[in-house]
This record gives sequence, structure tokens and C-alpha cells, in this order.
Amino acid sequence: MTFLLHRSTENTPPVAVKGEGIYLYDSKGKQYIDACGGAAVSCLGHGHPEVLEALHRQLDKVAYAHTGFFTSEAAEELAETLIDDAPQGLSHVYLVSGGSEAVEAALKMARQYFIERSEPQRRHIITRRQSYHGNTLGALSAGGNEWRRAQFAPLLIQTHHISPCYAYRFQNSTESAEEYAYRAAQELETKILELGRDQVMAFIAEPVVGATSGAVAAEKGYFKRIREICDQYGVLLILDEVMCGMGRTGTLYACEQDGVVPDLLTIAKGLGGGYQPIGAVLLSKELYDAFANGSGFFQHGHTYMAHPMAAAAAVAVQNVLKRDQLVPYVASMESYFKRKIHESFANSSYVGDIRGRGFFLGIELVEDKVTKQTFDPSLNLHTRIKQEALKNGLMVYPMGGTVDGKRGHHVLLAPPFTLKQSDINEVVERLAYSVSCVFSDLG
Ligand code: PLP
Repeated sequence: MTFLLHRSTENTPPVAVKGEGIYLYDSKGKQYIDACGGAAVSCLGHGHPEVLEALHRQLDKVAYAHTGFFTSEAAEELAETLIDDAPQGLSHVYLVSGGSEAVEAALKMARQYFIERSEPQRRHIITRRQSYHGNTLGALSAGGNEWRRAQFAPLLIQTHHISPCYAYRFQNSTESAEEYAYRAAQELETKILELGRDQVMAFIAEPVVGATSGAVAAEKGYFKRIREICDQYGVLLILDEVMCGMGRTGTLYACEQDGVVPDLLTIAKGLGGGYQPIGAVLLSKELYDAFANGSGFFQHGHTYMAHPMAAAAAVAVQNVLKRDQLVPYVASMESYFKRKIHESFANSSYVGDIRGRGFFLGIELVEDKVTKQTFDPSLNLHTRIKQEALKNGLMVYPMGGTVDGKRGHHVLLAPPFTLKQSDINEVVERLAYSVSCVFSDLG
């Protein structure tokens, strides 16, 4: 009997009682390798002593002070740490409690920016199909995943969707990667002109798409062209790095690899590494100045924003990442990790694509490698793989995203940055075994 409304009413998940490094343990003593960081959260693994110590220290000072009255040393230190290492041009930080809150805040900042600049007609948000930006109503409106949106559609705010940059699915055989990237980016210009050249306030995208597509990075040149289009039409570029940011792709920010700086950058998950709920919006000096020289006030706020405990955890996580050089370590391990996945999966008849950056890797499963036909959604392949992997002591993040109106399947790997070569071998071995068990059950 449980009084908790779990994600599914059909079963109660195992009870997590201990976390240590890359492992989680349930109340029956079963050990799981956390190869997805929950949902790309636990970048430092579990139970890191320095983060726990920092939390204790903060608790001894002050656990909570409302931002309507106070700031805190931890929040100020976190903002400074983030801006020290942020892409040039981003000058200030707004702290919230998670990814959806960060996206909501970024969208509202974009809107208020244009009010401050006396351009109130700019109200349209353009976003991409096959994207996920969170589950609160504004963030869900921005996302393009049909399955997540469908039943809430009447409640969502109006947004406009263009295609993602997803070469495996949408690049034509007659075009180069650069040509495809340019063609995909041009959809933004077309949409802006369709809505009115001074009517659009923001374009939001994940540099590497996580939950809905399984680590799909845009082709080289795509985001550069997107940045040019945004500049040409005065549209703000919001990059959502809630999942792919904070070192996960082998650079602190994923957009560094695309050579672009957004006007607004959302982060969460790896920011606090799961030790506390925290998210943030990094904003450009131009946006900050518009508020500072205008109303002097961003009309938003949450009771728990810039929470001292959350900020203290994030400072500790980011300090350890930096001191232990874990982001370059992730970059250095990418090719080994991919090679192991290729060795185990590339010859499987059901693996269509292996992709991603750093410790953010995806495997797309298809019924037919030539036609790229997706599996029948009623097979619930992702749920079966998740359950089988759990049985074999492995946490991975399989999902069913929408591909051309049909549900496709992929498995996302997003382990702690402390994963060693021998751990990678173990993760890939357990995953290959779990996936083969599911397919042999299917017959
Ligand atoms: N944005 C992206 C890209 C995400 O992947 C997620 C969560 O998976 C969110 C926003 C929402 O974050 P949260 O679940 O912390 O609200």
C-alpha cells in the first residue's frame, strides 16, 4: 500500500536507500549501475563527500532566506562561478529550482525584454518538433513531442514548430551534411517571415536533443546559421541545455561546440548533480541592461528561487568538476565509449544509429535498418528495455520519441562523469545483454 502517486499507478518502483559513486542500491540490497544519471542529472555520481560536506556547512549557516528580503553567499558565489566560465556575452544568472522553471523564466524574460524595448507586438515563440523543454504548461508548449503534448493541447500557449536538425532521419541522400544543416536552419527564416518579420520574440532549441530523440546533435553549421537568422530579424535565441549542458557533452556548454552564444541559456540537472533541485537562466548583458535601464524589475519569481542549500550544492559540484578536470575527461572518453557501443551493437539488425557527444550517447532502434522503419509503438520497447536492464542491475534511459508522426525508440546513456573504462565495458555488456533478452522475448 502506498499513498504516493508514482509515475505509474500500476507498479511501485524499488526503494532507493543508498547511493555511492556510480551505484544506487535498493532496500533489498540490489545494486544498479546508474548509466543515465537518472535523467542526465548525477554528473558526479552519488554520495560525493565534498558535496555532502558543503551541504552540511550551508545548513549550519542558513537553510533558507526569501529572495524578497535577502541574497545569500552561496547564490552570489554560484552566479560568479557560472559567469566566470560562461560563453562570452552572458553576464548574469537567474536561479530557479529546475529545468522547467528555467525554461518558463527564459520565455518570460524574452517577452518582457521586448516590452522594455517598446516592441510589445513580438509575442511568437518558434520551437522544434522532437524537442522537450519541460512539463509545466509554458515549457510543454515550447516542446514539440506530440505524445507529451496531446492531452494538454487545449491548455497550451500558442507556439510554432519547425523541423529539428536530425540527419539520420531527415538528411537527403543527395545533399551534404552542410547543405542539410543550411536547409534545416532555413526553416526558421521561412517561419519568421510567415509570422511577420517583427512579430517573433524567440526561437528555443536544445543543442543536443535529449529526451525525445536520444542525443541528436545538430549538423555543423546549423546553429551558426540559426544565430545569423535570429540576429537578422531581432529574434532572441534561447538554447536549452538543461540536459546537455554542464559538461555532459565534453565541453561545459554544448553550444561551445557549435560556435554560437545564445541570448538566454537554460541549465539544470548537472548544475546541482542531483544533490539539490536547481536550475538557472544565463542571460546576456543586453537583456540585463534592458531590465536595469527599463522597469528595473523582472516580473517573475518563485518562493524557492536562489535557494541557499541548492546554490551551495551547485557550487560544490561545479568546483569538484573543475578541480578534477572531469569535463575534459568526458571529452577524452567519448571515442572509447562509442567504440564499445559500436562493437556490441553496430551489427545488430535493430540498431539504426549510434550518436551523441561526450557522455551523452544515444542508440536508435529500428525494425528495418534500410528503410529506418520504426517499431510498432504497441510493443513498448523502451519500457521493456528499461525493465530488463533494471533486472540486470543497470539504469539506462530508453524513450519513445515521435518520428514523422510515429513513435520511434532509442536508448539514452548519460552516466556520471567519473565512469572508468572498466565501468564502460560493464555498462555496454549489461545493456547489450538486456536488449538481446528483450528481442529474443519478442521472437
Ligand atoms: N529542458 C530539457 C532539455 C530537458 O531535458 C528537461 C528535462 O528532461 C527539461 C527542460 C525540464 O527539466 P525539469 O524536469 O527539471 O523540469
